Amino acid sequence: MSSDLPNYEQAASIVAEHARAILEKRVGQVEMVELTSASGHILASPLRADDDQPPFPRSTRDGYACRAAEASAHIQLPIAGSTHAGQPPAGPLPPTSAWEIMTGAPVPAGADCVVMLEHVERSDNTIQLAPSRTIALGDNIVAQGAQSRRGDEILRPGLQIGPAQIALAASCGYSSVEVFSRPRIAILTTGDELVPIDATPGPGRIRNSNAPMLAALVAKFDGEPLVLPTSADNSEALDSALARAAEADMILISGGVSAGKYDLVEPALARLGAQFHFTGVKIQPGKPLVFGQIPPGAESLEEDKKRQGTTSVVPISGHIDQRALASASESIPFFGLPGNPISSAATFLLFAAPILAALAGSREAYPRFVLAQLARETDRKSKPGLTRFLPALCTFNPSVNALPQVTTVPWHGSGDLTAFAQSNCFLVIPEDAAHLDAGSIVRILLH
Ligand code: AMP
Ligand code: MG
Repeated sequence: MSSDLPNYEQAASIVAEHARAILEKRVGQVEMVELTSASGHILASPLRADDDQPPFPRSTRDGYACRAAEASAHIQLPIAGSTHAGQPPAGPLPPTSAWEIMTGAPVPAGADCVVMLEHVERSDNTIQLAPSRTIALGDNIVAQGAQSRRGDEILRPGLQIGPAQIALAASCGYSSVEVFSRPRIAILTTGDELVPIDATPGPGRIRNSNAPMLAALVAKFDGEPLVLPTSADNSEALDSALARAAEADMILISGGVSAGKYDLVEPALARLGAQFHFTGVKIQPGKPLVFGQIPPGAESLEEDKKRQGTTSVVPISGHIDQRALASASESIPFFGLPGNPISSAATFLLFAAPILAALAGSREAYPRFVLAQLARETDRKSKPGLTRFLPALCTFNPSVNALPQVTTVPWHGSGDLTAFAQSNCFLVIPEDAAHLDAGSIVRILLH
């Protein structure tokens, strides 16, 4: 293993720097989408409250609106009126009285608390706070504007829209929202052995499972997948496939980045004028991962270089190149993902996802690790110096004060899709750990 490869943290910080540079300098295209189809999109302009929220003091209980000081005396209070949800604010509440009220209804002026139905003794047309109960000012009322004031920024650009954001936008009258247009992510699978999903593989051939997997991953991070025809393992096919891929906002290449005789992706990228940020990371699976950028209009640059007789590459591994950062927003980032499906998925989530998220305008941090407790010790297959990401199954433990329990899934290497499909996360084994004991608190990356 080449010792000058970056380790996981170093490679992750190179990617994070590039993601930041992209986010700072990008001029994202925006579009309006119907609120009902906004899920997954990244919000492009702030959402503002069209009114105070709630727009009136709202009762959170069925019960009686009254004055806390009067109710606390446990005296009988005549019921002066009644309001249910949907009725306009009523009142004012006369002195020493109560007002019947339902959940969601406006509290009448003059009342400063709502006593729950279950906490009063009612007789004829009066109520009395039960002797065992107390009530305080403000109980069971959400004051007008407590959540937000008219004109407040209630959602910031850069947020990925989900059900909660859709509900908030709806409550403020947004039937459509401005979102960033999805970045186009070229997916180029390479390999002479690959056949399409609907073909029956001949001897020695396999179906292309990375293309649909990567397309699904890209969509998850709000990219628009552009799945290109699979390229054969030869320079001419790769050159023309990459020229097409270079029309996208980012390129994901699967396969062809190991050290084998038919691993021709790096030289093909170099012919496009690529700048390499790293060509390998001390991780397993996924060690041959390549990250870099090609200049915009790379095709013509390649022609220029041919004319000038140069096809140089500047390999930069393990440190952050300031010139590359400065041009990050104009260049087209690419990842050469190792072709083994689990390596492709892991390296996508660890490294490509943060760049894709930045291109999509997302200000959320990726990857997102969470803590869990290891249910069974891991294998003792020591891989010194490599951070390992093992397919694992996390069962989210519902009992109080317990961390989710995680166990590795038995697998036959990074091509074992059966094992991968039974997992829901990667367990992280730090580079200095040969194995982890049962009961350890560990980091996992959900997929
Ligand atoms: P490579 O990175 O090209 O050396 O490929 C490593 C392993 O991944 C080989 O066993 C390939 O057959 C397999 N592989 C490469 N590309 C794909 C793909 N698109 N779908 C499924 N398996 C693949
Ligand atoms: Mg290959």
